Amino acid sequence: MRDRLATLPIAVALDYHGNIDASTIRNADVAVAYRHSPHIDMGETGERAATALVRMIESGRRPGLAIARPDIVIPSIMSATSLEPLATIIAEARALEAAGDCDISLMAGFSYADSVNTGMSVICLDWDGVEAAQRKADALCARLRNDRGALSSAVPVTSVTEAIADVEMRPASGGPIVLLEHADRMNDSTHVLRALIGRDVGRVHVPFLLDPQAAIAAADVGVGSTMTVNLAGRSDPATGGPLSVDAKVVWAGQKSYTVSGRYQRGSLVDLGATALLDIGPIRVSVVSHFAFAVDGDPFTIFGERPEDYDVILLRSKTHFRDFYEPVASRIIVVDTPDLGPADVRLISYQQLDTSNVWPWNAHQSNQNKTTHSGEVK
Ligand SMILES: [Zn+2]
Repeated sequence: MRDRLATLPIAVALDYHGNIDASTIRNADVAVAYRHSPHIDMGETGERAATALVRMIESGRRPGLAIARPDIVIPSIMSATSLEPLATIIAEARALEAAGDCDISLMAGFSYADSVNTGMSVICLDWDGVEAAQRKADALCARLRNDRGALSSAVPVTSVTEAIADVEMRPASGGPIVLLEHADRMNDSTHVLRALIGRDVGRVHVPFLLDPQAAIAAADVGVGSTMTVNLAGRSDPATGGPLSVDAKVVWAGQKSYTVSGRYQRGSLVDLGATALLDIGPIRVSVVSHFAFAVDGDPFTIFGERPEDYDVILLRSKTHFRDFYEPVASRIIVVDTPDLGPADVRLISYQQLDTSNVWPWNAHQSNQNKTTHSGEVK
């Protein structure tokens, strides 16, 4: 295929969470990825790809394109680009770009996809040729490998019990506490919500819990009525299973809105049948379509604000940080026995050969040099 397209330049703009190897970009002349997670630079990434493509066409020169893989798999929560040591290594990539004619993409990979190339990678596009590109990609790869223990443990992760005890002991002050049920992959897990019911932690909001049946049931009984409902937890047993609750219907109807946050700003979101349910001091918005609760929109569409609550239960991995880091008084990452665990060693990969990949090879590394196997969790 590529032979027939040999004269046709190909540029690709990639998600920072792509699992990429040399074969993935073999047919590309230009490959660049998002530089931020939260992904606030989707437009700029397209512009970088297009700029390189136009330069290639106008100059008649093909840039060198190289990739290196550090053999590291990190959970998505550790891939936020504001976290250390990742932020420092990314800054080093920017410094290499400032010193040379190149574009470097550090890619986190996506550990919850099982493929032969699951894991981090570094792509370098260099107008000084492929050797310069490979040299820079290899150098950054070595940096990632050196810091792999710290990369895997960039934020503390707590159990549900620890998280609830923490909130009870130190209530919200100066902004809501964000509880991050990050291991939920379908927006319908019930582990943390179940643990919050009956606890004295103030006003709680649980935005965009996926449960079309509950949303329709709420519309049927009507606003002001109380219903007994099996809530969420139906996509997989790992979600914690449905939660039987008595809920008062505060609002019910169809809902759609335009995203105001920097992640996917301007996109139209159709939530379908939607309802606001009160379970005591816990307000849950149940929706019929999967939607990202990562900014203030889940509140403002109902005339509320995040600041109206003491505790907000989110299911994001990194995208929530752009809006919630300034708003939240604390962020507590909660690990649950769910489909997207913080300890990637709990995932049974069929395609990925983990034998020489961090953190599976942590014990081997320990014999050679100081590493951080104890910090992987
Ligand atoms: Zn991504």
